[in-house]
Amino acid sequence: MKNISRRDMVQISGLSAVGSLIGVSAFSKASGKDKSSGNKLKIIVMGAHPDDPESGCGGTMALFSAAGHEVVSAYLTRGEAGITGKSYDEAARIRTEEALKACKILNARAEFLGQIDGSTEITKERYAEINTFFERENPDIVFTHWPVDSHRDHRICSILAYDAWLNLGKKYDLYYFEVDSGIQTQNFLPSTYVNIGPVITKKGSACMAHASQDPEDFYLNIHKKMEKFRGLEYNCEFAEAFVRHNQNPQTLIG
Ligand SMILES: [Zn+2]
Repeated sequence: MKNISRRDMVQISGLSAVGSLIGVSAFSKASGKDKSSGNKLKIIVMGAHPDDPESGCGGTMALFSAAGHEVVSAYLTRGEAGITGKSYDEAARIRTEEALKACKILNARAEFLGQIDGSTEITKERYAEINTFFERENPDIVFTHWPVDSHRDHRICSILAYDAWLNLGKKYDLYYFEVDSGIQTQNFLPSTYVNIGPVITKKGSACMAHASQDPEDFYLNIHKKMEKFRGLEYNCEFAEAFVRHNQNPQTLIG
C-alpha cells in the first residue's frame, strides 16, 4: 500500500479523499513528518460512546489502517447507560466487547477513557486526563465529534478533545466528524470528504458489531443515507465528511 500522510487528506479544491488521493506523493513529502517507521502516522478517533468512532469515521479508519497507519479508537465512555434493562456494569461489559469486535474489523486499537455514559463531565481534572492521554499518544491526526450536537456526551467529548489540541500547542491536525446528522450533529458544513467506497463493507461490519444499539436503525437507516448523500456531494458512491480545523498545522489550505 502507498503511504497516506495528513497532506494527502487535503486537495486544492478543498475536498479530500484518503482513497482517491493515494499517489499524491507531493503532499506526503511536504508533511515534514518522516517517522523512522516509514512515514507511519498515528490517527486517533475520539468518540463519546462505543459506535460513535465507527459510525462517524469507520470508513476513514479502515482506509488508514489498510494503508499501514496506526489507528486508535478512543471511547470516552463504555456506553453504560445505553442498554435498557441492563445495569451499568453489564451494559459496559457488553458494549466494550462490541467495541473490541468493531476495532478488530477496522484494525484499530481501542482505548477507554474512563467517563460514564450520560454523566460525562468537564472539570479541571477531566481536562487534565484527556490532555495527558493525547500527550502520551502523540497523534498526527485527531478526529472527534462536531461540538454542535444534541447529545450532551458528544458535546463534552468534542470540547475535551479540542481543549487538549489547544493545550498541546495545535501540533497535530484536528478534524470533526458527524453522527446521526440532523438528529444529533447539527449545523455541519463539511470541508473534507473521504471516498469510503473501497471499505464500505468493512465499515458496515464494524457498525453492525454494535448489536446492542439497534444497528439496523443507527447504521442502515441513518448513517447509510449519510454516506450516500455525502457521496453525492463528492461524486462518488459513499463518502464520509469532515470539518477540518482551519488552524491545523499541516494542512495546505484553509
Ligand atoms: Zn454517541
